[in-house]
Amino acid sequence: MEIERIKLRTPFENPDYVYVYVVNSELMIDGGFCSAEHAAKLEEHDVKYRIITHHHIDHVGLIFFSDRNVILHPLEVRYLEVYSNPEKFIEVYSKLFQSFGVNERYVETLKILTALNLKPRAKISELREVKEFRVIETPGHTSGHVSVLADNCLFSGDFMLSNTTPNIGFYPDYTSGVADYLQSLHKVLELEIDTVYPAHERVIRNPQKRVYELIEHCTSRAKEVYDAIRDKPTMLEDIAAKINWSIGNYWEFDDFNRFMAICETLAFLHYLEEQGKIRREVVDGVVSFTLC
Ligand SMILES: [Zn+2]
Ligand SMILES: [Zn+2]
Repeated sequence: MEIERIKLRTPFENPDYVYVYVVNSELMIDGGFCSAEHAAKLEEHDVKYRIITHHHIDHVGLIFFSDRNVILHPLEVRYLEVYSNPEKFIEVYSKLFQSFGVNERYVETLKILTALNLKPRAKISELREVKEFRVIETPGHTSGHVSVLADNCLFSGDFMLSNTTPNIGFYPDYTSGVADYLQSLHKVLELEIDTVYPAHERVIRNPQKRVYELIEHCTSRAKEVYDAIRDKPTMLEDIAAKINWSIGNYWEFDDFNRFMAICETLAFLHYLEEQGKIRREVVDGVVSFTLC
């Protein structure tokens, strides 16, 4: 199997690069950052199939700046509207944040997407297998995230990264991120995989070890969230602030990182709730969490 890795710079500090893969000059995996420049570079590769792993801004460039055919999971398609109509998402998130007594200013950071005002140009077709390439559903980071398996190699998008633990997605209409992510990791353990090619960071040569590390991380974060809830009802932001985030102290985060941290904390709280370990309680009109 012939694998070409295209390295594209993003405007972010982290992740600073995104990798797009071309396999056997036939299949492209992911579509670069949302920019005309990335799409133009990718269009130089004349491939037959293009699979986009998920809807995040550093993966969907081809969708907005190219009129080719792309394959995207139907659960991801609905989120593309965030690039043309972010207000709709801001409104729903703001209401949710308010109900937990969290400052909805953090959600306003999504407004940066308003300036993009992007509408899909590509022809988007629903998920399907492409010849010898197997498309594996690996939800958790987002609801319809997919990875591609070919010849014992897994092209993992943001599902598995070599160093960073992928953020667990939480959307007002997608709350099962943690359970899905753990299930995706267990699913991958059952596949024969020698090498993982992620969309960021390094190639993973010992995938099983990395899968176990990610399972362990998820399990200990769930415990951390549980431990952050004391014997009296605890508010969402106080729980988020007690978590040991890899990028530092919650109270020193900018609004965007607070938004991300609140969402991930909510994903874990939903997971603990589903397991019957914690429950919600409304105190002074604000939803708080308490141990069962
Ligand atoms: Zn992502
Ligand atoms: Zn990414």
